[in-house]
Amino acid sequence: RTGSVVITGASSGLGLATAKALAETGKWHVIMACRDYLKTERAAKSAGIAKENYTIMHLDLSSLDSVKQFVDNFGRSGRPLDALVCNAAVYQPTAKEPSFTADGFELSVGTNHLGHFLLSRLLLDDLKQSDYPSKRLIIVGSITGNTNTLAGNVPPKANLGDLRGFSGGLNGLNSSAMIDGGNFDGAKAYKDSKVCNMLTMQEFHRRYHKDTGITFASLYPGCIATTGLFREHIPLFRLLFPPFQKYITKGFVSEEESGKRLAQVVSDPSLTKSGVYWSWNKDSASFENQLSQEASDVEKARKMWDISEKLVGLA
Ligand code: NDP
Repeated sequence: RTGSVVITGASSGLGLATAKALAETGKWHVIMACRDYLKTERAAKSAGIAKENYTIMHLDLSSLDSVKQFVDNFGRSGRPLDALVCNAAVYQPTAKEPSFTADGFELSVGTNHLGHFLLSRLLLDDLKQSDYPSKRLIIVGSITGNTNTLAGNVPPKANLGDLRGFSGGLNGLNSSAMIDGGNFDGAKAYKDSKVCNMLTMQEFHRRYHKDTGITFASLYPGCIATTGLFREHIPLFRLLFPPFQKYITKGFVSEEESGKRLAQVVSDPSLTKSGVYWSWNKDSASFENQLSQEASDVEKARKMWDISEKLVGLA
């Protein structure tokens, strides 16, 4: 039968390109889980995704109520869940002050990590119940977890420290808005959120892979320098970043190519190994990449998972 995949943040960039790549195979129906219905409808149309191959459902990851509402709506739709792709993200590299989710968490970690944490925990039962032969839960990571690249070492580097800001609620009132308890830095908050994404994937693998057979995976799709992710960066950066990545670091990938990569992680029969952080070499061949020390720290993953459960109201 046709597979049924939920992709968050499918209204632009990597998520849209992945939705298109999967829909074009004719083997997948894509549920585009997005906060802006009209934008998503326009994006799907202009990408040329056939009407019968997608459904748009509202999801705002910066609100835990919206996440729960989405899970209810999805359940009522009667569709099976064969794959879940946690892809949406916000990045605020120039913000001087933190902003916050509906529940009062710093926005980058609140959206990119905590929203997806609740979503994937609540949808785990649907994944378990699916009779699809290869069920997968994918959380998009980033290069900040690679210690074997230059870009993974550009400051400000991710660092969750002892998680004191996180356990305090990341609200900027009685706790810091940063996971490590330090001063607000938007670029670092994004990188920290991506480390949480990669730790979450591995903790899912340790807790649930054996019993459920679900494949848990993360990936670094390459530097997709043209997406909306950089929309809040200064204009000069946005002008120079794509050619810099193309000609100097040579890490540039097109949105189309990155979408094909993520689509492979969703459906390629050879990428079924669980607990893996996928990357691609210069010839666009996939390989199992190494994570940085912090992004593969088992004790930190467990602690981060426990605090996340408390913050989203699961514990
Ligand atoms: P885009 O900005 O193009 O896409 C981000 C998506 O997330 C958009 O669809 C956006 O929706 C959605 N989103 C943001 N906030 C919310 C929210 N509160 N609720 C629901 N959806 C939301 O960026 P990319 O395509 O580049 O990013 C996709 C993923 O790829 C991210 O996880 C990012 O970390 C990762 N990545 C990107 C790299 C790059 O070079 N671009 C490199 C490595 C990883 P809307 O359209 O409504 O704003």
